[in-house]
Amino acid sequence: MGNDVFEKNGENSKHISGIYNYCDRWCERCPFTSRCLNFEMSEEKFDDPQSRDLNNEAFWEKLGETLHETLTML
Ligand code: SF4
Repeated sequence: MGNDVFEKNGENSKHISGIYNYCDRWCERCPFTSRCLNFEMSEEKFDDPQSRDLNNEAFWEKLGETLHETLTML
């Protein structure tokens, strides 16, 4: 994952550009999950229960990967 995700998103018209910049990140109650790139990426990245558990090393590894990818894009 990285810049290619955003480039691919440009080709994918189902996503609403930048919608995640104007939300409260309460995805469980959001009617736009099917049109949000941030939600889709989160579901892919944190796709198993271990990666969603703060007390599990898998969560911190995934978070570290995400931060690294963010720094690469900056
Ligand atoms: S799905 Fe989540 S991140 Fe995307 S717009 Fe809705 S609340 Fe924000």
